[in-house]
Amino acid sequence: MNDNVDDQIQRNLISANHILHFTSVLDAYGHISARHPVDAMTYLMSANMAPALVSNASDLVQYRVNDSIAVDSDAPKGYIERYIHGEMYKRYPDIACVIHSHSEDVLPYAIAGVPLRAVYHMAGFLGPDPVPLYDVVNSYNATEPHDLLIRTPKLGEDLAKTFLTTANASANPPVLLPDYNVVLMRRHGFTTAAIDIQTAVFQAIFTQSNAKAQTTATLLRGAFGGLSGDEATAWTGGTGNGGTGAFEPLTAQQAQDCEVSIGATSDRPWGLWLKEVENDSLYTNNV
Ligand SMILES: [Zn+2]
Repeated sequence: MNDNVDDQIQRNLISANHILHFTSVLDAYGHISARHPVDAMTYLMSANMAPALVSNASDLVQYRVNDSIAVDSDAPKGYIERYIHGEMYKRYPDIACVIHSHSEDVLPYAIAGVPLRAVYHMAGFLGPDPVPLYDVVNSYNATEPHDLLIRTPKLGEDLAKTFLTTANASANPPVLLPDYNVVLMRRHGFTTAAIDIQTAVFQAIFTQSNAKAQTTATLLRGAFGGLSGDEATAWTGGTGNGGTGAFEPLTAQQAQDCEVSIGATSDRPWGLWLKEVENDSLYTNNV
């Protein structure tokens, strides 16, 4: 195994494609990219192919951050939605990995008008606020296709801005990192970004787990009807809402502390996920 910087980023990016497929964050669609560790004004992502089947260095294409055009003019055809990635790297210099997913567990929160919240300790990175929602229809001009895809730099730029609070949207100089780690895309999916591949993969997988837990808890609450009286007080210790109505998401302090504590253990799941895909014959990593 060669450990030069190019091989390392390519190997990790290919494995991340496999992990995201193995965990159902990606299916035949969706994608992950990584900023080039040496040439920071470029990024790497697979050519237009299913993530599970990415296996060789030649499957990866290097794009310019500035316009998401391939550095090599003979590169194979790329994903239509690569502007999601290029515009995140352009706006946030410290972001080094972007993942875009149509996860079926997260999708209902991009459709139903129900806010996605951090509801358990593994999802502190979602923060205390509802996950922001980007609606591409507000960005369209009259002549471009209204297919909900991010197929131009302008649409990618508008999505990237949604990762900021209003206060930071016009900050000068621009902020290096987004305020939000995840943004929902209405009737489409979600995008997450981080400072490295491992963190972004973690966020994508646990955004999905959090959505699943929130959905199940919501259905359970609806079916059961919630506690009342002394039972409700006993359930929450009198500090929260054990009765009817919405349950509480993590508080700001809980979200912050969970993100720090769980973030310190991020090597553990990555090692497991790598082993899982290495032992599954569907996936090949030749780098
Ligand atoms: Zn998409």
